[in-house]
Amino acid sequence: MNLKDNIDNILNRVEQAAKISGRSIEDITVIAVSKTVDAEKAKQAIEGGLSNLGENKVQEFVNKYEQLSDMNIKWHMIGHLQKNKVKYIIDKAELIHSVENIDLANEINKRAKQNEIVSKVLIELNIGEEDSKFGINAENVYDFIKEVSKYDNIMVMGLMTVAPYAEDPEEVRWVFKKMKDIYNNICKMQLKNTDMKYLSMGMTNDFEIAIEEGSNMVRIGTAIFGSRNY
Ligand SMILES: *Cc1c(COP(=O)(O)O)cnc(C)c1O
Repeated sequence: MNLKDNIDNILNRVEQAAKISGRSIEDITVIAVSKTVDAEKAKQAIEGGLSNLGENKVQEFVNKYEQLSDMNIKWHMIGHLQKNKVKYIIDKAELIHSVENIDLANEINKRAKQNEIVSKVLIELNIGEEDSKFGINAENVYDFIKEVSKYDNIMVMGLMTVAPYAEDPEEVRWVFKKMKDIYNNICKMQLKNTDMKYLSMGMTNDFEIAIEEGSNMVRIGTAIFGSRNY
C-alpha cells in the first residue's frame, strides 16, 4: 500500500469511530507522527490530505520543519521535552502535547514571552502509572493545572496521554474513559489561561477506542508510514 491508501483507510476508520460517538470526521484532528521518517515521506502525508505532523525529538522536529518550510503544516511536539530545548521549538510548534512538570511550564512561559507569543500546550497524563512513561498522575493533575494556569504566555488547550500498550485495545478503554472524566472536571474549573479544546489520545493500536471515548486528536505513525526502523 502507498501512503495515500494508508491515509484514506485511516480517515475512513476515524470517520466510523467518530460516528459511534455522535461526531463527524471534522471534529477529529489526525496527526501524522513522522518521527524517524524522512522529510520527503512526511511531505507525502501532507500531499495525501493531512495537515498536522507530530515529532517527538527536538532535533528531528527542527530539521524537518526547515526542510518543509515552504509547506503549510501544523507541527506538534508530542515527545518528552527537555527544558533546555524549549527555545528551539517555541516559535515552531502549533501545540506542545507534553507538559508534565512545572519547570518545563515555567520555561515555556519564559520563552513564549520573549517571542511575544502565547504558547498552546496540553498537559500530559500517565493514567496507567507506568514507570516507563512521562506524565502527571491523575490525582495530581488538578493542582498541577492550577499552577500552569498562572502563566500568561501559556494557553492550556487540553490533555494528552499515551495509553499502556495492549494487544487488545479494549483493555485500555478505561484509560480513555478516565481521561474524558478528568477533562470534563477541568472544564468545570474555569481556570484562566485555559481553553479546553483537545483530548489528544489514540495511536495506531487504539485510536478507534480512544475516539469512541471522546478523543478529538489522534496521533498516528505506524498505520500511515509503516513500521519504524530506529
Ligand atoms: C510514536 C508515537 C505515536 C504514534 O505511535 P504509532 O503506534 O506508531 O501510531 C503517538 N504518540 C506518541 C507520543 C508517540 O511517541
